[in-house]
Amino acid sequence: MSDARTARAESIRALSIPAELLPGDGRFGSGPSRIRDAQMEVLAGLGRSVMGTSHRQPPVKQLVSRIRSGLAEMFALPEGYEVVLGNGGSTAFWDVAALGLVRSRAQHLVFGEFSQKFATETTAAPHLAEPDIVRAESGSLPAPVGREGVDVYAWPHNETSTGVMAPIRRPQGAGADQLVLIDATSAAGGVAVDVSETDAYYFAPQKAFASEGGLWIALLSPAAIERAQRLEAGTDRWVPSFLSLTSAIDNSRKDQTLNTPAVATLVLLAEQIEWMNQQGGLAWADARTRATSSMLYDWAARRPEITPFVADPAARSQVVVTLDIDEAIDATAVASVLRGHGVVDIEPYRKLGRNQIRVGTFPAVGEQDVAALIAVLDHVLDRSN
Ligand SMILES: *Cc1c(COP(=O)(O)O)cnc(C)c1O
Repeated sequence: MSDARTARAESIRALSIPAELLPGDGRFGSGPSRIRDAQMEVLAGLGRSVMGTSHRQPPVKQLVSRIRSGLAEMFALPEGYEVVLGNGGSTAFWDVAALGLVRSRAQHLVFGEFSQKFATETTAAPHLAEPDIVRAESGSLPAPVGREGVDVYAWPHNETSTGVMAPIRRPQGAGADQLVLIDATSAAGGVAVDVSETDAYYFAPQKAFASEGGLWIALLSPAAIERAQRLEAGTDRWVPSFLSLTSAIDNSRKDQTLNTPAVATLVLLAEQIEWMNQQGGLAWADARTRATSSMLYDWAARRPEITPFVADPAARSQVVVTLDIDEAIDATAVASVLRGHGVVDIEPYRKLGRNQIRVGTFPAVGEQDVAALIAVLDHVLDRSN
């Protein structure tokens, strides 16, 4: 680091940001992300009636039922699709899918850390053939390649580590026996989608759904359900009970999970789904995240020291905005002075290793707070030269 850059970083860290510029809520993380106060109030209010009670009894089963029907409404669930859930978050679902959905060979689009993680699982799985990996550099977007012998196409709707968003369309020429599995962890609930273009649209609730981690949810097509039933009935692989998709399907149909869920996660999730549906559902959420993310991209266009990391405007995420900062200004110092004032989690994905800020613009984050964040960043950058 040059002496000038170091000295500048020190003076950035020492800046004081006027209280009147600060956002009402300073949480801008890309997950875990902001939970609205109203959700926390409901959680506190449920006190003794739900928290600390059995998940095999109506109060908790009703929460699961509200989640399943609320998601069916939000995603206009196509005929025959089911909302299935289980414990372990999206990371667990990769293993569930490697056992219960990939028959022999998957094609993965890999363009960041999260898409790489699922590809790593199917590469290591002894019962599967070497996957077909279509790679693109961080910050850009690869396209699926229709290919025979592939029985699953897998990619993330939004690559949270880079802020690249992908179209959700079945690859050209894809056959009925080729399933499309979409990791929608950071996109689901914040970006419009036609679920009929997918066979498993899966996610965890700590991002656009403003809840806690530890749960996975998958919108499954009839073809995916049938694939899981066939694979798990076969003898070529051992499927641990905890990773059994058919067991999760059976439990979900009864508004249950295989083992004990975190009840607070269910409460916060049910509240957020219903709030979003009341606001106007997925179309509303999509419009809101487009508006808030555009504010940041427009701001970047006005500031010479800021450049969107994703060069292609069409691939820029509307829920995770990644902005590179001129090397002369230390982005960690910027994130750090904001953190000192209660504006948190705008650090970039650690392994990406860029001089960057990353802002989560999920549906719980309103325009007023994004405007305030921009004012705070202007205040800091105007004093960084
Ligand atoms: C956060 C995230 C994950 C990991 O989710 P966990 O619930 O922590 O396992 C996976 N994929 C994407 C795209 C994510 O953003």
